[in-house]
Amino acid sequence: MEPIRVLQWGLGAMGSGMSKLILTKPGLKIVAAVDGRPEYVGKDLGQILGLDETFGVKVTNKPETVLDKAKVDVVIIATTSWLTEQKSDLERILNAGINCISIAEEMSDPYAQNKQLALELDRLAKQNGVTLVGTGVNPGFVLDLLVVALTAGSHRVDRIEASRINDLSPYGPTVMKSQGVGTTPEAFKAGVADGSIVGHVGFVESIHIISDALGMGVNRVEESREPIVSSVRRETPHIVVEAGMVAGCAHIGIGYRDNTEVIKLIHPQQIHPALENQETGDYIHIYGKPEIHMAIQPEIAGGVATMGIAVNLIPIVMAATPGLKRMIDLPVPAALQGESSYHRA
Ligand code: NAD
Repeated sequence: MEPIRVLQWGLGAMGSGMSKLILTKPGLKIVAAVDGRPEYVGKDLGQILGLDETFGVKVTNKPETVLDKAKVDVVIIATTSWLTEQKSDLERILNAGINCISIAEEMSDPYAQNKQLALELDRLAKQNGVTLVGTGVNPGFVLDLLVVALTAGSHRVDRIEASRINDLSPYGPTVMKSQGVGTTPEAFKAGVADGSIVGHVGFVESIHIISDALGMGVNRVEESREPIVSSVRRETPHIVVEAGMVAGCAHIGIGYRDNTEVIKLIHPQQIHPALENQETGDYIHIYGKPEIHMAIQPEIAGGVATMGIAVNLIPIVMAATPGLKRMIDLPVPAALQGESSYHRA
C-alpha cells in the first residue's frame, strides 16, 4: 500500500499532535508542513515536534511552494476557528486540486451560518474534483455525530438533550480568555456583551448537523453564556481563580422548530471542576422511541480526539466524492490501525 501523502498546515497544539500521530501510521506520510510562526520557518518538522529524528520536511510559511497535487494527497488545516479567517487558505487548497480536512469549528457545518460561502466552497471543491470536510471532537463528533449515530435504530425522536462537561485546566491563555476564566462575574458579563468572551464555538453547527440528519426542522438557535463562579481557589499554570471569581463558562445552545425546543446542547467548561465535586463526562439523552441515555465518564479527551478524528478521516476523504461534506455525509471514521482500516469507504 502506497502511503497517503499529507500536508500539515498549522503546527500549534493540534497540528503538532496530528503530525506526531501521522508519523506513527504506516499508511500515511507527512510530505510538507506550513506554519506562519517565523521561528518555525526553515526548520525540520522533527525539530519543531521536539523529536530526535529529522524527516526532510522543512516548515514553510509559503503554502504556494508546497501545494502541489502531484506530491500531496490531502491537507489537514489546524489554524483557526473561524470560517471567514480560513476561507482564503481553503480556496488555495481547493484550487490546487488537493483534498482538505479542517478542524475550524465553523467548518463542521459551514451551511449553518454562512450558506453563501458554503455553496461557494462546495462549487470550488467539485470543480477541482476534491473533498473538503470540517471535523474535530466538538463540533464534529461528541455533540453531533455521536448523537446522530445513537438514533440509528430510533423509530421516532421528539427531543434531544446532550451535555459535555469538561476540564479546561490543560489549556493555555487563549482558551482562558475566550472562556472568561479568571474574570469577575461583572467582567464576564461585559466580555460576553462585547464578544471577547465567546465560550464554546460550534453550537449552531452541531444543532444544524443533528437537525438536518434527523429532519428535525430547526429554524432558530438561541445561545446563553453564564459565568461559573467558583466557591474555592483554583489554579493552573496560566491562571489563578480566587473564590468568587469566574472558573469557566456555562454555555447552552437550544435549537427550536418554530416555538418548540427540539435540541438542547449544554457545555459548561471550567478549570478544575473536581475541586467542587463536578465529575466530567459526555451525556446524551434522546427522547422518543426508544428512549436512549448514554454516559461516557470521564469525557472523551478533547485534544487527543481532535487529533485522532482528523487523522482517521484521511482515507475516508480520499475515497469520498468531490464537494463540501459534513461528518454526517461521510462514513464514520475509526481508529486507523491495520491495512483494512484504510479501505472502508
Ligand atoms: P494553536 O493556536 O495552538 O495553533 C494554531 C497554529 O496555526 C499556530 O502555530 C499558528 O502559527 C498557525 N497559523 C494560524 N494561522 C495560520 C495561517 N493562515 N497560515 C499558517 N499558519 C497559521 O491552536 P490549536 O489548539 O492547534 O487549534 C487550532 C484551531 O482548531 C483553533 O481555532 C481551535 O479552536 C480549533 N479546534 C477545533 C476543535 C474541534 O473540535 N472542531 C478542537 C480543537 C481545536
